[in-house]
Amino acid sequence: MQRHAIINTITQTPEWDIVVIGGGATGLGIAVDAASRGFKTLLLEAYDFAKGTSSKATKLVHGGVRYLAQGNISLVYEALHERGRLRKNAPHLVRVMPHVVPAYNLIDLPFYGSGLLLYSVLAGRLGFGFSRIISRNEALSLAPTLSKSRLKGGIVYYDGQFDDSRLAVTLMRTAFNHGATLINHMPATGFVHHDNKIVGVTAQDRETGVTHTIRAKAFINATGVFVDDVRKLDKADVKPLLARSQGIHIVVDRSFLPGDHAVMIPKTDDGRVLFALPWHDCVVIGTTDTPVPHADIEPRALEDEIEFVLSHTEKYLTRRPQPHEVLSVFAGLRPLVKAGGDSGNTKALSRDHTIVFAESGLMTITGGKWTTYRHMAEDAVNQISQRAQLGSRPCVTHQMRLHGYSTERDSDNMQMYGSDAPAIRALIQANPTLGNLIHHDLPYTNAEVVWAVRHELARTVEDVLARRTRSILLNAQASIAAAHHVAELIAAELKYDNQWVADQVDAYTAFAQTYLIYRAD
Ligand SMILES: Cc1cc2nc3c(=O)[nH]c(=O)nc-3n(C[C@H](O)[C@H](O)[C@H](O)COP(=O)(O)OP(=O)(O)OC[C@H]3O[C@@H](n4cnc5c(N)ncnc54)[C@H](O)[C@@H]3O)c2cc1C
Repeated sequence: MQRHAIINTITQTPEWDIVVIGGGATGLGIAVDAASRGFKTLLLEAYDFAKGTSSKATKLVHGGVRYLAQGNISLVYEALHERGRLRKNAPHLVRVMPHVVPAYNLIDLPFYGSGLLLYSVLAGRLGFGFSRIISRNEALSLAPTLSKSRLKGGIVYYDGQFDDSRLAVTLMRTAFNHGATLINHMPATGFVHHDNKIVGVTAQDRETGVTHTIRAKAFINATGVFVDDVRKLDKADVKPLLARSQGIHIVVDRSFLPGDHAVMIPKTDDGRVLFALPWHDCVVIGTTDTPVPHADIEPRALEDEIEFVLSHTEKYLTRRPQPHEVLSVFAGLRPLVKAGGDSGNTKALSRDHTIVFAESGLMTITGGKWTTYRHMAEDAVNQISQRAQLGSRPCVTHQMRLHGYSTERDSDNMQMYGSDAPAIRALIQANPTLGNLIHHDLPYTNAEVVWAVRHELARTVEDVLARRTRSILLNAQASIAAAHHVAELIAAELKYDNQWVADQVDAYTAFAQTYLIYRAD
């Protein structure tokens, strides 16, 4: 997968059927859907695939217990079915995650017990297992660090867990397999209009500075919390559609939650849902819901948010993590569609995502969740193909196996590669030094860096350490220590010089320090 070949395809294609702007869950899902229906599809990503919210999720494939509490049964039903489809279509990336809901009040047992039973039943044939009420002793044996004081018992229920940016890379590869063209580090910078309709988009290559003008029959704005910025490129005075809220997570050592069960606190003192989930031999704990005034590609966790997660970890998991025990902290932004916003002719088939068409023909899609990306893509492509008269072609993604599909179980960090894993092992067989770890505190090998550059369009140290591997989340400090070595491996593949290596290390170090709440130096 060579960048210059992709750029050649872009410059030599006179007109695309669909150009998708934004390479997160939404845009990548649309690229897979559109290409697999046979539409000539191009996706432009400003930074890297999943650089936005799509690498900063809680990592749950879920129906949304929260929506159930709000009585939104149809939304939960839809998400639970998408959850089941995703597990069937990408068994190498989705695993069943049992959750313990502790009950500190006797009334909670029948209350949450009946709600979670309904949750299990709604999933139907695609269910992950039936929930059940458990005793205090069983709750403590499944989640030994749960706070014991006043604990009365609990409920076990099942959801799915995944690795968000690895699913994004998988969708990128699936879209290529179906004939789409995708490129990262290529932001859309403007639109070309003819008779008030959009006929083209300009995009600037961040690596060379070259601007390309790209023509297409239809354009989809799938830029997450940045949709208003792209809508303004079409019409400068358009009223904003979105407000934003931030959610943060901390990552700590497995000793905070040993065992293979997650813990879900349905209602903290201030009414929030809190998760603690075993993930890649660490524990991810979050999240928060804090309104923020601006969209930032790398939002920063606020002190209040960190304090909230630390104090609730102490409250429910026995011990408060000390600053040096926080391996990483990450923040993501949720788009919230404003009630009075310029949503024009909003067509929301589901209340979880929103689709808006501008007079120019630009489709904007936002909201939803990772779990429902496939359904959102189906909805988006159904609507755009009708609007832009691309011809009616049915969606084929319901049972489409994603790239790397495999039902074999592999070691924790090779599991995410699915059927690509043997090819990565073959790299090591051919050159055993590629089997060395990139850092002794990280589970990734040199071979995975080489693989990411050759086959997964990784272009920078950050692409490798933050999204092809999850080094920054598993141990941000160790990822900084690995940056120079990783930069050299990438430079050898892409024929870059020492100055590139030095610049990359500086850029990565500055970036990764924002994921630390404690610095050893
Ligand atoms: C804290 C938090 C936890 C979550 N947890 C879960 C969970 O556990 N499970 C779940 O199912 N969902 C979860 N979600 C929801 C899920 O993460 C989001 O719905 C999903 O990632 C949104 O994807 P997106 O593609 O719409 O946006 P994004 O991922 O933000 O992608 C938008 C992309 O557009 C790019 N872009 C911006 N401007 C331009 C431009 N001019 N040109 C080209 N590209 C551009 C950005 O770089 C970015 O990559 C969570 C959300 C948050 C905030």
